[in-house]
Amino acid sequence: MSKNVAEYFACDVFNDEVMKARLPKPVYKAMTKTRKMGTPLDPTYADVVANAIKDWAIEHGATHYTHWFQPMTGSTAEKHDSFISPTDNGMVIMNFSGKELVKGEPDASSFPSGGLRETCSARGYTAWDPTSYCFVKEGSLYIPTVFVSYTGEALDKKTPLLRSMDALSQQAVRILRLFGNTTATKVTSTVGPEQEYFLIDKKMYDQREDLIMTGRTLFGAMPPKGQELDDQYFANLKPRVAAYMADLDEALWKVGVFATTKHNEVAPAQHEMAPVFSTTNISTDQNELAMEVMEKVALKHGLVCLLHEKPFAGVNGSGKHNNWSMATNDGQNLLDPGCTPMENMQFLTFLCAIIKGIDEYADLLRISASSAGNDHRLGANEAPPAIISIFMGEELQGVLDALEAGTSYKSESKVFEIGVDALPDFPKDSTDRNRTSPFAFTGNRFEFRMVGSSDNIGCPNSLLNAIVAGELSDIADKMESVPADKFDDELKSLLVSIIKEHKRIIFNGNGYSDEWVAEAEKRGLPNFRSTVDCVPHYADAKNVALLQKFGVLSEKEIKARMEVLLENYAKTINIEALTMIDMTKKKYIPTCIAYTKELCDAAAVKQSLDICSCVEKELAEKVSSLTKAAYEATEKLEAAVAAAAAKDDCVLSMAKSYREDVIPVMDDLRAAVDALEVITPSEKWPVPAYSDIIFNV
Ligand code: ADP
Ligand code: MG
Repeated sequence: MSKNVAEYFACDVFNDEVMKARLPKPVYKAMTKTRKMGTPLDPTYADVVANAIKDWAIEHGATHYTHWFQPMTGSTAEKHDSFISPTDNGMVIMNFSGKELVKGEPDASSFPSGGLRETCSARGYTAWDPTSYCFVKEGSLYIPTVFVSYTGEALDKKTPLLRSMDALSQQAVRILRLFGNTTATKVTSTVGPEQEYFLIDKKMYDQREDLIMTGRTLFGAMPPKGQELDDQYFANLKPRVAAYMADLDEALWKVGVFATTKHNEVAPAQHEMAPVFSTTNISTDQNELAMEVMEKVALKHGLVCLLHEKPFAGVNGSGKHNNWSMATNDGQNLLDPGCTPMENMQFLTFLCAIIKGIDEYADLLRISASSAGNDHRLGANEAPPAIISIFMGEELQGVLDALEAGTSYKSESKVFEIGVDALPDFPKDSTDRNRTSPFAFTGNRFEFRMVGSSDNIGCPNSLLNAIVAGELSDIADKMESVPADKFDDELKSLLVSIIKEHKRIIFNGNGYSDEWVAEAEKRGLPNFRSTVDCVPHYADAKNVALLQKFGVLSEKEIKARMEVLLENYAKTINIEALTMIDMTKKKYIPTCIAYTKELCDAAAVKQSLDICSCVEKELAEKVSSLTKAAYEATEKLEAAVAAAAAKDDCVLSMAKSYREDVIPVMDDLRAAVDALEVITPSEKWPVPAYSDIIFNV
């Protein structure tokens, strides 16, 4: 393998360069138009494209092809078919038709559909998404596809995303026309997702049933040291981690993922990978692929990559900061304020649309980041609070205040002074960072920081796109009929009214503070603490109206998604509770009983020899009473799980029961077992302790 990344980057991707070289000119042109403008591909070209892809894929070691899709399970799905086609002489030729490229019909009845498909009439179709590149991996050609039902309902995370991108493009172009732009014909939402993860030794992982079954530790006492010294964040990379990251980069680059940033994160054993941003669709596909590759490369190094939002209690969890903006096909970033944002009315229009949208649809954004795993992060003083707000930063806040007050604002270009002559001065960024805000302006984009590390970013971005499309559409409706001589004044007064009405969503202070929770409540901002609190709002009338207006999701699709989210929540907690019961009964209680006996035996022997046995006795009593507490909590948990599971006629009450009746008992059980862990000799403890796991790589 060449060391020059530029030489091998995307060597396994059927990208624009390969298409140009391998497709007849008119077909290449048509493909480019489809990719860039979203126009449908002439079906007569499909055979030509299929044949070229097949030849290229075979040269790259592929024997099979697979329609690769993103069902509502949370991971990607693939079913592999070979290119072989038998011939009369008992041999095969390698075949691949346009029809096979364009459409697949996997017998995919077991995917969650939220009731959109009954298993008896479970037709689901995969349809090629030519806006994302095909690639070869492990002997198969991967064809990115959407997954829809026989009646056209979305069964995946990608279909609504593509629909929302179209909606945003149409509405944003209308706004651009208002400002006299006649060249841009398309606006694309762009995303760069920063992916956090944990790396742990596989030998430790293999001994922890909780990690294997649920991706997180359900028990574990805090070691004497956690992350309080901040000595892991950006620390130099340990050799095993560095080797993993180097291999990961190479594997990602080969399949065309723009991996660029890597560093250690705050918690021990926590790291981050960030790619260069791309269009939302490609970024989503690449992030799904990246997560898979991250897990696979780890295994080659005897490591396990944990993508769960909260693998370890007591230290930070993992998120996926979703950096989002909009780009025109004539080269503008619509969220770039430029040097004089006060005069940049186009920028301010987009900004105000976002402010209004986030305020009006805070619940949708919160829903887009909700899962059982992410409930541990949001509002836990280490990740953004569960309350949605916008961080604007000093300069933009100044601009918005001036606009509202009708005063002028002078942008100061500040120079950053370090105070050392030999060092160059450089201009100061106009925004500082605020790490506690869920939706922060970071100079030329917004960073939505709530998204969970294992989430598919398709959902947050389709809702974000739809929200902004809705607001842009309202603004365009109002402004399109305004005569040119009144345009500036009318627009200004519209923006001022938006700022006045929606500035409650802006908060530039510390989002982790208790004062903010109280202040947000005063402002009337929603604070949905958990998945079960927010998900039911998916189907609120205003949300259905918005999503339906742009065809992003129909009411039926929304209700199906609600059901999948709640069902998934209930199932996740159910598995976690059962795993806790299993581990307690089979590991912790037997260990503690044996240890108590050992202590009692020692006490008896000592007593018979007239030696003081008070330590043994006291310890035996402590272990014994905590074991009793653990035993009783296990019994209680069994009953709570059975009661919750029995509520299967209404998924919301079932999910609520897991949240309200099961989780508190899980917490009690954990407290008892963790207390036992602290007083039990480490060689007797049946699973590796936190200190063995998070300080081991
Ligand atoms: P941070 O300092 O926030 O940790 P990183 O460099 O880790 O920043 O990640 C920033 C991410 O934002 C990268 O993925 C980057 O490509 C992305 N990004 C930059 N500009 C844009 C943009 N215009 N649209 C979307 N994402 C962007
Ligand atoms: Mg980062």
